[in-house]
Amino acid sequence: MNLKNINLLVTEHCTLACAGCSTGAPFAKKISHSAESFCKWLDILQNKEIPFTSIALTGGEPFLHPEVRDGGFIQLLKTRYPSKWVQLTTNFSWASEERVIGYAPVVGMLDGLGISIYESVVQKLGGLDEFHRLTMLLKDMCPNTKVTLYDKRHFVAWEFHEAKREVKGPCITSDCFILKPDGKLSHCSLAIGAQNIPAYNVILEKSQEALFDLSKLNEKEELLSWQQKYPFDLCFNCTMWEHIRVPWYSLRPQSEAEMLEGKLRLLLARAAALRDLHAIEASQRS
Ligand code: SF4
Ligand code: SF4
Repeated sequence: MNLKNINLLVTEHCTLACAGCSTGAPFAKKISHSAESFCKWLDILQNKEIPFTSIALTGGEPFLHPEVRDGGFIQLLKTRYPSKWVQLTTNFSWASEERVIGYAPVVGMLDGLGISIYESVVQKLGGLDEFHRLTMLLKDMCPNTKVTLYDKRHFVAWEFHEAKREVKGPCITSDCFILKPDGKLSHCSLAIGAQNIPAYNVILEKSQEALFDLSKLNEKEELLSWQQKYPFDLCFNCTMWEHIRVPWYSLRPQSEAEMLEGKLRLLLARAAALRDLHAIEASQRS
């Protein structure tokens, strides 16, 4: 685990409403944060010689941010932190030929662009062929940007529980360090997601280790030791480490049937995961 990438939560809300969204974007208010509001904290990390190598714009959907769309955000980061790799991940819900051509100069400033492939966006574009045609067009127009596609047909279901439970494995998001403009750096994306979900606020508030307040940073070793800790206190209230993969579905279904299908997928996945867990525990006992 290391702090090589700092994610900036540039936009809290999103155009999609994925069940299991780890930053809680479907529950977030419509808020975007200025590029300048992150610089104070990135400067502190640089001045303390914290060895991070890249800065990622994340959300929510970063392209909802006007400063991202006009290129100002990325320009500022590239100018002020020239040694850092600057990347962004988008759900591509904005894509059309006209927009791809329009945003290419912005994407061209990035070192890396991640495009997540969501079923609903593919459907909106009329199918995978059109989706890939548009991503190819963007790649051709931005030859210096490393474009990577991510299959999002599944997500990892998670929830918080009041009682502390043993953590029995690693977690895919334990080094997803996300910075907000208040200077709080989260150890994982759920420490951001829980802020947007009222039922989980109380559990998050009890945690001493899920967030690091950069305004209180004295010695760089304090931060380096914090980021290495896993599991940390919030993990004992969380199921993410169980890694229950569930087929993607939207929390804003288009019909009652779609909603029921989503809930059923989640229940079946949890039942299967519990069966596996019991089988492993039984084999360990015997
Ligand atoms: S596209 Fe990403 S940020 Fe938006 S709701 Fe889905 S998982 Fe969350
Ligand atoms: S198990 Fe721990 S690191 Fe993973 S998401 Fe939950 S709180 Fe975060």
